[in-house]
Amino acid sequence: MVYACHCSLCQRQSGSAFAMAAAFPGGSMTMEGKEPAVFLRDGHEGRRFRCYYCPDCGSRIYHQWYGDAGDAPFFNIKPGTLDDTSWLKPGCHVWTENAQPWVVFGEGEVVFARQPPVPEMPRFDP
Ligand SMILES: [Zn+2]
Repeated sequence: MVYACHCSLCQRQSGSAFAMAAAFPGGSMTMEGKEPAVFLRDGHEGRRFRCYYCPDCGSRIYHQWYGDAGDAPFFNIKPGTLDDTSWLKPGCHVWTENAQPWVVFGEGEVVFARQPPVPEMPRFDP
């Protein structure tokens, strides 16, 4: 699942109009090299995030939603950090109630005013 988040926190974090994320099942990633730097932040509606950054360049690599019950069963890679970004296209847009007014959503695009329940978000199907 690849999505664009237009929430105010993602606008601030990305320094742009929206942030993109690609969700993968928890435990499906291995990392090599340096340990990433970690930053904890609160999200909207009580969500909490562990945000992982490259300790050298500061690029955000991925983030993990977590709560009192533990980690969400998926994590979100920042897809702009992948070697091949040519396939990137959001399957949906979330938090569009905060979208910048010049962002225009195409006909047929899946948009959610806020964060939908995860099962409602379309899955990437290459
Ligand atoms: Zn967001």
